[in-house]
Amino acid sequence: MTQIIDGKLISSQIKDEVKERVAALSKKGREVTLAVVLVGEDPASQVYVNNKKKACEYCGINSKSFELPESTSEAELLELIKKLNDDASIDGILVQLPLPKGIDEDKVIMAIDPAKDVDGFHISNVGSLCVGREGLVSCTPAGIIELLKRYNVAIEGKECVVIGRSNIVGKPMALLLLRENGTVTVCHSRTKDLKEVAKRADILVVAIGKPKFIDDSYVKDGVVVIDVGIHRNEDGKLCGDVDFESVKDKTSAITPVPGGVGPMTIAMLMNNCVAAVENKTK
Ligand code: NAP
Repeated sequence: MTQIIDGKLISSQIKDEVKERVAALSKKGREVTLAVVLVGEDPASQVYVNNKKKACEYCGINSKSFELPESTSEAELLELIKKLNDDASIDGILVQLPLPKGIDEDKVIMAIDPAKDVDGFHISNVGSLCVGREGLVSCTPAGIIELLKRYNVAIEGKECVVIGRSNIVGKPMALLLLRENGTVTVCHSRTKDLKEVAKRADILVVAIGKPKFIDDSYVKDGVVVIDVGIHRNEDGKLCGDVDFESVKDKTSAITPVPGGVGPMTIAMLMNNCVAAVENKTK
């Protein structure tokens, strides 16, 4: 029987746990504050930012909004980040991506104090993950590890295949699976015989960015499939990188879209906000 991995349920549990940790800090007189920086008027970014602010409210985390016009220069944004880095009342800094043309995203990410980098994108946090040190981890892959653990999917010794090697999903995902003692293979657009490699997987994580790309010809029986993709199809419905209907009966467990990986990203962002404070007070 296929188990549908309920990301909505697990994300609620994580947010409740964060809420308790925030309350415990508050009892000691320590607030948790996230600065949310949005540049421009991209409607999708506005929705994401509002969802993040709502999650903060639920968890008892203060969110401070910095909404800057599209015309903001790179220098002005870097100046704001410097101020937020220096402000002891700010624990986490989130700069909503993508940024308007003309602003170098890498430069902006690198300007954030790694201790406040709740997205886990700073090279220092990525390096910590790589060498097995503590640090803030990219939210989507960290959320996937939580899903696997909370559904008792053993990773140790398993063939884990990650399709996609982006800096925010594929690469940190591979490093996290390796940290959990999985045997990890990373695939990308130049991989030869993708189907054959994917079929080796006991755990298949798909982050390609192409709607319904993976069908049943890419998976072996009993595989656990994690679908990171989010797309809107012709009917306006959400779908993933995996053709859920084609694949689901061959899997032992699978994440749906929506309601799988998506909700975990914000929950792990909340986790990183409180972790940023706990790391400081350790
Ligand atoms: P991305 O930066 O576009 O990376 C896509 C990766 O897939 C690249 O490494 C690319 O290989 C590889 N790829 C593309 N076509 C391929 C093919 N035919 N065969 C094998 N590999 C192929 O995407 P991303 O940022 O990682 O995001 C992936 C998906 O996850 C998107 O749908 C995105 O919207 C979604 N997403 C969801 C969440 C969430 O919260 N649920 C968070 C982040 C992203 P090359 O490196 O060789 O080009």
